[in-house]
Amino acid sequence: MLTNANGTEMGTIICQHCHRVVETFETEKVLTYFGVCKEDDCVPVETAE
Ligand SMILES: [Zn+2]
Repeated sequence: MLTNANGTEMGTIICQHCHRVVETFETEKVLTYFGVCKEDDCVPVETAE
């Protein structure tokens, strides 16, 4: 568990497709969110019709 000197812990956003860490942010507790990174394979395909 990652905790810095402030007692602030680390939240992480993980790509739901490739499981790469997309972003980290400070939180009051450890959190993990799933998101999408910017890799071509992972970016949602938007079909505008
Ligand atoms: Zn990805």
